[in-house]
Amino acid sequence: MTVNMKPEVLLQSDASLTGSNTLGFSVVAEHLCQVEQLPQLQAALALAKRSAWPVLLLGGGSNLILSERLPGLVIQLNNRGISCLEQHAGQVIVDVAAGENWHDWVAYSLSQGWFGLENMALIPGTVGAAPIQNIGAYGVELKDCFHSLTAWDRQQQRQVTLYPHECDFGYRHSIFKGVAAGRYVIWTVRFRLSTTPDLKLNYGGIAQYLSDQGIDQPQPLDLFNAVCDIRRSKLPDPAQLGNVGSFFENPRVTLAQYEALKRNFPTLVAFPAGEGRMKLAAGWLIDQAGWKGYCAANVGVYEKQALVLVNHGGGDRRSLLALAAEVQQSVREKFGVMLSIEPRQYPAA
Ligand code: FAD
Ligand code: NAP
Repeated sequence: MTVNMKPEVLLQSDASLTGSNTLGFSVVAEHLCQVEQLPQLQAALALAKRSAWPVLLLGGGSNLILSERLPGLVIQLNNRGISCLEQHAGQVIVDVAAGENWHDWVAYSLSQGWFGLENMALIPGTVGAAPIQNIGAYGVELKDCFHSLTAWDRQQQRQVTLYPHECDFGYRHSIFKGVAAGRYVIWTVRFRLSTTPDLKLNYGGIAQYLSDQGIDQPQPLDLFNAVCDIRRSKLPDPAQLGNVGSFFENPRVTLAQYEALKRNFPTLVAFPAGEGRMKLAAGWLIDQAGWKGYCAANVGVYEKQALVLVNHGGGDRRSLLALAAEVQQSVREKFGVMLSIEPRQYPAA
């Protein structure tokens, strides 16, 4: 059944979201609407409030673990547009609509000679979701090129602009995952990019990859292509094998904990994480606990990267979380470290 609201918003009932979550779970939303303009968003939120419906903002569904049936209203932003607001002193400020695809925006920025996003190529999802967990890859995070964002503040019922100091960006974290969860609908994101390249090559396998390709003076496009190639070789394509990328966060431990672990496990993979702490590679811990390539009935642990849990087909939230709990328990028993789940579970557990 579909219902029209004014301003024109098409409300769909019992809408399938199976193709709208990268795990490929079979999911039905009680109500779904797609919005392109701010008044439509306001109308949809007002209806949800009157009807006492919970609201989920859905982007590409690449960081969500959804239940079979979602109560209330799911809103997908389909606003589009990229506009350069300022250009001076070797920098541009560019405003990008939340509904734009992240990877397409990264590719477009390069085509315009705007640099800084190369390391974050091929991250699935939308531009609007990028600030939520301050997405990051290969040593670069959203916050490194973030200027500000515009959002609808559901609490104050007005449009706001938020600057970096108001977003509390941290490692895969922001205010939008923390104290302000659910308060803001991000409408556009503004980026500060450079018109001169400044390549970040010293992370993961990037330098090695470029050298293997015989590229000794890499350009931004070489870096972009390297990141895409490396990612394609290590990560499952959600269109082929359902997944939400890294299932667990890389745990932070004290220096003392790290040293004790390193004595017992000399090949432990870890990196400095500031203020006397170390970041452990969660994928290594899971691999060492024997899970890489594990296959349960419908779900499993990806054979090339143990940090990625996958849906082999027919899996659901319950079966995936049951596997996650087993992985957490065995890592805790072997290393004394608790792994936290990175993607959001909706509705909350
Ligand atoms: P969704 O999953 O739809 O939503 C995520 C959260 O954002 C939800 O809480 C949702 O309610 C909220 N949200 C979405 N849009 C808005 C909005 N406009 N306003 C307010 N709230 C909103 N992440 C990384 O950080 N680095 C990586 O390298 C990376 N690699 C990945 C690789 C693969 C193969 C996959 C499947 C995932 C990967 N991810 C990675 C995780 C994921 O792609 C990112 O978190 C991405 O930003 C999620 O975008 P999305 O549009 O799919 O958001
Ligand atoms: P990788 O290159 O095999 O590295 C394994 C882990 O070691 C990563 O988690 C990374 O931490 C860390 N690492 C590697 N080099 C580092 C350095 N020089 N300094 C500090 N930490 C370092 O990882 P991968 O699985 O192939 O992923 C590559 C990048 O894409 C990583 O940045 C990863 O975060 C990102 N990614 C994220 C997701 C997601 O869903 N969140 C999914 C896929 C890939 P970090 O994770 O902190 O960078």
